[in-house]
Amino acid sequence: MADDEAIQATNDDASECKRYAVQLGYWSDPFINFFVKQTGRKAPEINRGYYARVKGIEVFIDKFIKLSGGKGQVINLGAGFDTLYWRLKEAGKCPANFIELDFPSITARKCYHIKKHKQLIDMLNTEDGEIRFSTTDLHAANYHLVGIDLRHISELTNKLTQAEVNFNLPTMFLTECVLVYVDTSAASALLKWLAGKFPNSIFVNYEQVNMKDKFGQVMLSNLRSRGCLLAGVEDCESLETQQRRFTINNWEGSNAWTMVEVYDSLPQDDRRRIEHIEMLDERELLVQLLQHYCISVAWNGQTFKNLSIAQG
Ligand code: SAM
Repeated sequence: MADDEAIQATNDDASECKRYAVQLGYWSDPFINFFVKQTGRKAPEINRGYYARVKGIEVFIDKFIKLSGGKGQVINLGAGFDTLYWRLKEAGKCPANFIELDFPSITARKCYHIKKHKQLIDMLNTEDGEIRFSTTDLHAANYHLVGIDLRHISELTNKLTQAEVNFNLPTMFLTECVLVYVDTSAASALLKWLAGKFPNSIFVNYEQVNMKDKFGQVMLSNLRSRGCLLAGVEDCESLETQQRRFTINNWEGSNAWTMVEVYDSLPQDDRRRIEHIEMLDERELLVQLLQHYCISVAWNGQTFKNLSIAQG
């Protein structure tokens, strides 16, 4: 399907933007260049936006790792070429299990890059030295990469079981710019299914928000991104709709912040550091960009209830 191909191509955009920002020193990621070779120049506000995205998500990952005592599992839905597993491993903060899901065409490319780079393979835990590869899937001791269309819920149990999921472990789900590409009914079915299966979990979602103009209409220019329809745009209207999409799908509670709030909550010394990397003539451009993205979180059970964006 043409739209699915356009959706998969959004992974190239995200990975290239991340690589460019890393190259300039916004944050450290020694692994991204194994997945992305080249990238063109990006505007300073885009780089700062990615910085806020990566650092904002890190806040919740750190809280999850701490609260689960390193014994939880992370499930990254629509993971693309994300390098989080290797970054956590390098920092000595790896969870008990780490599962990544994406379309098979994307996981096949990720498998290829992992196989090709000894530095990536060597960091996969192997109790018995065995890593199982197929064209699209990879299974190591605590890292699993699995190809699936997230709209096909009936295949999820099987795929997650192959990835040695444990439904009773503390679990963090991560979706970074993913749900917006899944139509509302399929995204609802997915969220409901996860809520029913994982009683002790937190869901961390980064995506668009405030998609309505001052007349309350969803802005037409926001309906398509990179040529593909933003199918879940209705859930991105406001912080309230972002939160409600979880609670109406059986998550116990939820919270959401615009990226303006997230950016302002990041450590001041690091913000000062990155604000010196590139000149930003008009700070207003950055604020406008950050107002249109958010982090929303939802939880099941007491362990991850009401986590905030505040550090520590
Ligand atoms: N999360 C990664 C990141 O932030 O770097 C990738 C983000 S990219 C914008 C969106 C990803 O979601 C793509 O890799 C795409 O293939 C994946 N995706 C979207 N819809 C999906 C679906 N129905 N099933 C599986 N993956 C999907």
